Amino acid sequence: MLPYFDQDHLALQSRVRAWVDKHLLNRAEEADVEAAARRLVKELAREGFVAYVTPKRFGGVRETIQSRDWCVLREELARGSALADTMLGMQALGSYPITLAGTDDQKQRYLPPVARGEAIAAFAVTEPEAGSDISAIQTRAVKRGKEYCLNGIKRFISNAGIAHIYVVFASTDPGKKAKGLSAFVVEGDNPGLVLKEKTRVISPHPIGVIAFEDCIVPESNRLGQEGDGIKIALDTLDTLRCTVAAAALGFGQRALEEALRHSQKRRQFGQELAQFQGIQFKLADMATELEAARLLVYHAAWSHDRGEDFKRQSSMAKLYATEAAQQIVDQAVQIHGGIGVVVETPVARLYNDVRALRIYEGTSEIQKLVIARSLLNSLGVKREG
Ligand SMILES: Cc1cc2nc3c(=O)[nH]c(=O)nc-3n(C[C@H](O)[C@H](O)[C@H](O)COP(=O)(O)OP(=O)(O)OC[C@H]3O[C@@H](n4cnc5c(N)ncnc54)[C@H](O)[C@@H]3O)c2cc1C
Repeated sequence: MLPYFDQDHLALQSRVRAWVDKHLLNRAEEADVEAAARRLVKELAREGFVAYVTPKRFGGVRETIQSRDWCVLREELARGSALADTMLGMQALGSYPITLAGTDDQKQRYLPPVARGEAIAAFAVTEPEAGSDISAIQTRAVKRGKEYCLNGIKRFISNAGIAHIYVVFASTDPGKKAKGLSAFVVEGDNPGLVLKEKTRVISPHPIGVIAFEDCIVPESNRLGQEGDGIKIALDTLDTLRCTVAAAALGFGQRALEEALRHSQKRRQFGQELAQFQGIQFKLADMATELEAARLLVYHAAWSHDRGEDFKRQSSMAKLYATEAAQQIVDQAVQIHGGIGVVVETPVARLYNDVRALRIYEGTSEIQKLVIARSLLNSLGVKREG
């Protein structure tokens, strides 16, 4: 893990790993995903893990947020449970815009309850017509005196219906497209915020469609100035991307462990699967891909924490680690043969759990655009669009 991590990170890693081994590795999936999600936030907070998502002044652990803490937490949690990783990741994603752009009052009000696991956080960008293209957001926030009135629909919102606070991106000036976006904190019990649908995805994940129906939000809940929304959203996503990549490492690690275990246990043609060179080659490729992904992820997180420009590295880490994890999990399923697709076996679960990582917080294709644009910009190449 060195040289990217110091003793604090390593201590955190052993603590989370031990907790995951004891409490998550053999936990059965619950039918009621929302109840499981709520309970996990409490458990993770009790262990002090959620406190890493906010700065010390606002209930957190460190003076400033460290991407390496988030990566360590997400890698270890994802090894044990996709839902645990999601809940930790969402506490970070839904609160980081407040850490980034909130006033002291906003931070004092919203961050400590998130750090204590008393408030569940959500981040609402995506809409039916605005997925990869954030500039197409149609949710409107119209100013009326000291308030805004929000109208619009957001879909694929993690924690929809169970969140206590939603950071919502809406247009205050549609003529300016992306530059007309503003960010607001909307409280979960606001009567104008309506849960329209719970969406079932292939991995346990509380998610759904929400609507803003004449939803009145005080001006004091706007983050930053009008028009700051796009910067707040992109800066948040840049930071979180490499932590999604860290979660991919956790899934990949678990898949490798399961494949190693099974290949030493299962015998065919009079010997263990692990004795066949064909299987050994698969295991070697899986481990090598995982190690390469780790270096990209840790390097991106380390660059973030040093205050360097890490945007390209964060996209590379997400692109590479999520694609690699998908391949690693697929190979683990293959090594398990039929058992690999039996519902509820660890590798079958991983197969479903890993898939969305190549889609959310910027698809693999969008990561390639970010990387290419950064390369071309660094060469001073002018581009269209
Ligand atoms: C499990 C899950 C959780 C999520 N949680 C949240 C959340 O909490 N908050 C939130 O706001 N959103 C959330 N999302 C939404 C997620 O961020 C979007 O699904 C994602 O950004 C892609 O948008 P889309 O689904 O509309 O796909 P589209 O944008 O329609 O893309 C469809 C396909 O076209 C490709 N494509 C699009 N544009 C280009 C281009 N310019 N060049 C090449 N290819 C392109 C994409 O890569 C993709 O393969 C979540 C999604 C999932 C699956």
